[in-house]
This record gives sequence, C-alpha cells and structure tokens, in this order.
Amino acid sequence: MIETVTPTGAVALVTGANRGIGFQVARQLAERGLTVVIGARDPERGRAAARAIRAAGADAHPVTLDVTDPATVRRAVGWIDERFGRLDVLVNNAGTADDPGHRPSAADLDLVREVFETNVLGVLTVTNAMLPLMYRSAAPRIVNVSSGMGSLTIQSSPESYLAKVPAAAAYPASKSALNALTIQYAKELRPHGFLVNAVTPGACDTDLTKELQEAGFTITRTAAQGAAVVVRLATLGPDGPTSGFFDEDGPVPW
Ligand code: NAP
Repeated sequence: MIETVTPTGAVALVTGANRGIGFQVARQLAERGLTVVIGARDPERGRAAARAIRAAGADAHPVTLDVTDPATVRRAVGWIDERFGRLDVLVNNAGTADDPGHRPSAADLDLVREVFETNVLGVLTVTNAMLPLMYRSAAPRIVNVSSGMGSLTIQSSPESYLAKVPAAAAYPASKSALNALTIQYAKELRPHGFLVNAVTPGACDTDLTKELQEAGFTITRTAAQGAAVVVRLATLGPDGPTSGFFDEDGPVPW
C-alpha cells in the first residue's frame, strides 16, 4: 500500500513507549535498524523497555518524558540533541482515555481536561519542542497515533463498526482534535520536507481497552499488529503521503 524505506542511522522518538502499542512501535522501529528513544514518564519503566529491546540486539535508549510536563520535554530535547544532534522520526503515541459510557451529558470536566491535556496539548508540546531537532533531518516524519474513534465520518455512521461503543465525552473528541492538528502541522511543515500523518492502529488488546473488553467487546488484535501501520508511516519514502489518516488497509475517512 505505502512505500517505506529502512533509513540507516535514523533517530526516532516514541512517546509512551514503555508499554502497549508504543512499546511495540519502538521495538519494530529498532528491529528495522533505527536508533529508538523510548519516551516514558516513569524512568524505571522506560529503562526496562529499552533493556528489553536492546536484549534483542537493537538500539534503544530511555528518556524521561511526560507529555503534560514541559520541563521533562525540554530535558528530553537537550538529551537527544547532545546524544544524536537531530531527530528524524517523532511518533506521538502517548495517550489516555475516559471510559466508554462517560457520557457527554454527564461529563466530568476534570477528566475531559486530563484526556485533552495528554492526547492534544501533549502532542503540541512535544512536537513543538522537537521541531528544531527535526529541521536538521534530511527526511523528517511525524506520526500521530489517533483512533477510528476520532473519525467524524465513522463516529457519525450508525452502520459503522464503532456504532455499538457507548458515547464518551473526551476520548473521541480528543482524537478528532488530534486529526485536525495533524492536517495543520502537515500544511505548515510540507514546504520543509516533513511528512505528517495520523494513523489508527485498530482496536488492540492493551490496558487502554480493558474497560471496553470488560464491557463485553471482544478484541483479539495484538499491540504488535496495531504497531505495524504506525511503523509504516514512520518510515515513509520521499514520495510518501502527508496530511493523511491511515489504517493498515489504507486511507481512513476523516
Ligand atoms: P496503553 O497500553 O494504555 O499505553 C499508553 C502509554 O501512554 C503508556 O506508555 C503510558 O505511560 C503512556 N502515557 C499516558 N499518559 C502519558 C503522559 N502524560 N506522558 C507520557 N506517556 C504517557 O495504551 P495503548 O493502547 O498502547 O495506546 C497507545 C496509543 O494508541 C494511544 O494514543 C491510543 O489512543 C491509541 N490507540 C489505541 C487503540 C487500542 O485499541 N489500544 C486503538 C486506537 C488508538 P504509563 O505506563 O506511564 O502510564
């Protein structure tokens, strides 16, 4: 579907890479020969993830990074700059969700703020802090890990596979906002050679979907399967798309 390359010596940062889909993205990028920086808000969890990837002979380095804490983001920029001098790939993966069933009509605004802080403002914070390092890359790529729940087209269709998921106040809207932001970044950065895209990994069996599974939804897809499309968009060749929204089968409607 999409032509990818294996960039030798490329440096990638994955946020929220200590578990779930982010860990699998980091592992798969490292297996492809990239140097991967594991962004994790808990230093010990970050070190453990990097150790697990290095044990398989790949190149991974932990950095402490909470996407809602600009001080940790600034320190991460300094560390990447000192160590590698540039950043080629940024995967904005860290994410959080409210429970499906946290109805808009009964929204807990503190919870809505928390979800938007991480899923939307966190992406602005990390991306803007990393951009100076990415301008030094010959082939900068940004991948925003979104969700089918962020697709207004899918969400508004009573026929869609997500129609049975109960309405929620925060997560779907946060991913729609992330999609909108993806388009704006792509527009701004296109003249500078950046490829910026949103992806949906599909419903995967991770901690994030525990509540959904407990509510009776069957999810058999693994985090590793979900990670594959993220890796594809992170390793796009020069003629790859920008300003798109993709799943493993191709374009997803906004
Ligand atoms: P997960 O297993 O719950 O992992 C979430 C990761 O994000 C963890 O590493 C977590 O770190 C990190 N994180 C959360 N808040 C953070 C913050 N403020 N700063 C830094 N890291 C933070 O979730 P997942 O299923 O792998 O989800 C990963 C991404 O895929 C999310 O953006 C999610 O919306 C998206 N997605 C998932 C699915 C799915 O079915 N699973 C479907 C569509 C999209 P801690 O370990 O420290 O909590």
